[in-house]
Amino acid sequence: MDGKKLDFFKDKLLQKQLSLTHMVQRTEGYGREKDQDIQDVADMAVDSYTKEFNFGKSSGDRHVLQQIREALSRIKDKTYGVCTNCENPIQPKRLEAVPWTGLCVQCQNLLEKGRLEQ
Ligand SMILES: [Zn+2]
Repeated sequence: MDGKKLDFFKDKLLQKQLSLTHMVQRTEGYGREKDQDIQDVADMAVDSYTKEFNFGKSSGDRHVLQQIREALSRIKDKTYGVCTNCENPIQPKRLEAVPWTGLCVQCQNLLEKGRLEQ
């Protein structure tokens, strides 16, 4: 992949990293704040649902953040855009949609079916 393209994806990744970092921090800040409130039982039920939802969401964001960090280091190594499993080039359309991915479509499918060891 040429330098211009790498820069393009690097920008995309850095932007996404920034917005996700803010989101994760906000979610966690919200959880802590809520713990200190005095609530009745009904509120607590709603709150624990909200917390679970936020937790699930923020751990998903964390996962993406981790993948973004790995993608950025692949940009540095100039291995970005190559599947980390089969070493074929990752489809450009896929990279544009999910710039932090390290797998081509075929390997992603295998992973989702649980047939890929990482
Ligand atoms: Zn692959």
